[in-house]
Amino acid sequence: MSENQLNSKVVKFGGSSLADAGQFEKVKAIITADPARRYVVPSAPGKRYSDDIKITDLLYTCQKLAETGKDFSEPLSKIRSRYLEIAKALGLSFDPTDELDRIAYRLKEGATKDFAASRGEYLNGMLLADYLGFPFIDAADVICFNENGVLQMTETMMLLREKLTEVENAVIPGFYGSGPNGEIITFSRGGSDITGSLVARAVRAEIYENWTDVSGVLVADPRIVKDAAVINTITYEELRELSYMGATVLHEDAIFPVRAAGIPINIRNTNDPSAPGTLIVAGDSADSDAQTGYTITGIAGKKGFCAINIQKAMMNAELGFCRKVLTVLEEMSINFEHMPSGIDTMSIILAEDEIKGREKTVLSRIRKAVEPDVCELEHGISLLAVVGRGMRRTRGTAARIFAALAHARINVKMIDQGSSELNIIIGLLDGDFEEAVRRIYAMFVNSTLTDDDAEEA
Ligand code: ASP
Repeated sequence: MSENQLNSKVVKFGGSSLADAGQFEKVKAIITADPARRYVVPSAPGKRYSDDIKITDLLYTCQKLAETGKDFSEPLSKIRSRYLEIAKALGLSFDPTDELDRIAYRLKEGATKDFAASRGEYLNGMLLADYLGFPFIDAADVICFNENGVLQMTETMMLLREKLTEVENAVIPGFYGSGPNGEIITFSRGGSDITGSLVARAVRAEIYENWTDVSGVLVADPRIVKDAAVINTITYEELRELSYMGATVLHEDAIFPVRAAGIPINIRNTNDPSAPGTLIVAGDSADSDAQTGYTITGIAGKKGFCAINIQKAMMNAELGFCRKVLTVLEEMSINFEHMPSGIDTMSIILAEDEIKGREKTVLSRIRKAVEPDVCELEHGISLLAVVGRGMRRTRGTAARIFAALAHARINVKMIDQGSSELNIIIGLLDGDFEEAVRRIYAMFVNSTLTDDDAEEA
């Protein structure tokens, strides 16, 4: 690896950032504004307006129709005109017609779902490479999967490094790679984020910039909190907590490759390139770095949970009680989220989907296993996570959260704080969920009480 590759940035652009020629122009301006932005990972063209259809979805539709011998010319012509429009508007020397014909032929010949979907990124990569004047490197030659579709990290790193050291710049399409027999395999949806992360790790990039259509990770869901603030700095761990609870920013698996190499991720907005976005860093660098400005970093949550409430006199003295209950769940392959308990009571909070259609069986098996006095199912529960590395060093965070909820007369059904003190999870009734998010947001972000006023632990 040459020295100067250490000063490189990997830039990944999402589908809406490359949805039409106007967006391509913005992307080029961003790339040329900084010569360190040498390796570019594009998604397939996304939506241009809210009820537009993503190219990836159109490709899946074509493949589905082709598979059953049906005519797929309508979705195919939509795909064709979008690429041709971009190529024409940008005056590209590359004409996508032949590639589009080849894709149509492969679809007729029984192309797989993964092959079909991957063509969105493949073609967009070719257009972008031509537009930027950068070499195109096919992801099928550098991203490797085994026969079960599992990413082969060592081989992928070796191939990426080998190819990328030969070039000053490159466009590597996101979302796919190839299996042992050269067959195309994709990541799950949104997987171009993973490709960007792998490329960043391979070139030991100084930063992985992930360009999208929002100015970073927001403190709360903007559908619930209007004009929610952007998080300046967040740790990988905090982001994982927020993502798990429903915040959608980055593909979950995109964090691991760069995290292992200590490369920060910067979420940026293609439509507002001067905004600094959100920096995702390792926990130790965040502590010495800029703080969020608030004790909490973010709030996220989801509806759609239920609780199995169990009561039995002298439960506390009965050895193995919890184990027997959990064994029932394990035997039925049911995952649970939380298990708050009292002396003679325990509740198991789990997603409704985990138990749907099997409610009666689960309850009767628990009854048989531990003979409880009461064993019932409660529906309509939401879980809300208040996440923040600042909690560990500040007293009174929990008091502020629950004061905010108490003032709104919101009943708390469950509280869980892990030993890492990174988050507080609260169980609520579905009907209280949105208001709870707004009240907690207001307490920390809009409140005049700052970190300096809060008592340091
Ligand atoms: N184009 C793919 C999708 O729509 C992959 C990606 O955009 O990351 O999921």
